[in-house]
Amino acid sequence: MIAFIGLGNMGLPMAVNLVRAGNEVVGFDVTPEALERAEAQGVKATSALEEAVSGAEVVITMLPSGKHLVSVYEQILGPVAEGALLIDCSTVDVASSRKGHEMGAAKGLATVDAPVSGGVSGAAAGTLTFMAGGGAAAIERARPLLEVMGSRVVVCGNPGAGQAAKACNNMVLGIAMIATGEAFVLAERLGLSHQALFDVLSTSSGQSWALTNHCPVPGPVPTSAANNDYKPGFAAALMLKDLGLARDAAASVGADIRLGQAAAKLYEEFVANDPKGLDYSAVIDLVRQHSEARS
Ligand code: NAD
Repeated sequence: MIAFIGLGNMGLPMAVNLVRAGNEVVGFDVTPEALERAEAQGVKATSALEEAVSGAEVVITMLPSGKHLVSVYEQILGPVAEGALLIDCSTVDVASSRKGHEMGAAKGLATVDAPVSGGVSGAAAGTLTFMAGGGAAAIERARPLLEVMGSRVVVCGNPGAGQAAKACNNMVLGIAMIATGEAFVLAERLGLSHQALFDVLSTSSGQSWALTNHCPVPGPVPTSAANNDYKPGFAAALMLKDLGLARDAAASVGADIRLGQAAAKLYEEFVANDPKGLDYSAVIDLVRQHSEARS
């Protein structure tokens, strides 16, 4: 039996894919609505965390942040069965992730950090990429379940290495999205069409995943949020969270990430003035506003 803790936008479709693959999944969440939605999709829901984990061979967590993870681990380490495997798929700070590994190891449990990329659509389709950290044996034990929920498992290294990789990756994505937005705003002001710039960037050295998948202007990539009033997709608030994690990690080891810090500042400003909770690609509007203020 698998216990699944945190049945939100990501956790629920991941748990449902485990059910569809023939696993018995008992789910827990702090909100009753999440439990109701889970029940409706074949997850056995319980409002008692202890009940969810006792008897589970595997406990998967998909929680908002490191403090939620540590709090849940504090509560489950008593009732969890001996020999259970703990897999944390949340995106959390490297320090909390390592603390979670240590807490599990102190009880003799195998632990894996396996944050994901691929978003809500990847969670629903079972095509997530997992970035796995932990002992090699623990990761290999987790792999069959990760391969049900995703299509790729990248082994990153020791405990917390998955979270470190996720922080690095999303810092690059945040910077790339702002760079792409700046290029489109500059092009607008130079009289170049969006399509012309896209055609050049996407086939030249300015090409990036942010551009070709999440193009921040409507038109060139029909599936990008820009064509749908910037409805997320990947909300700017989540990008800000991830840039904050990269900033904390960099501060803890003395890495100089000036562009990462600049990206975090821009997303901070954007999110503070974004009551609609828009997609992270909408940051291009902040670039436009700053440009208007200069001209
Ligand atoms: P969400 O807010 O939709 O879901 C989190 C769930 O955790 C909620 O249902 C909440 O009620 C529950 N929860 C909070 N505290 C709890 C506790 N103590 N015990 C049990 N349940 C608790 O968030 P999400 O979008 O599903 O994201 C989950 C994690 O995945 C986050 O760490 C996020 O950064 C990461 N992530 C999200 C995306 C995305 O596109 N949404 C992409 C990659 C990674």
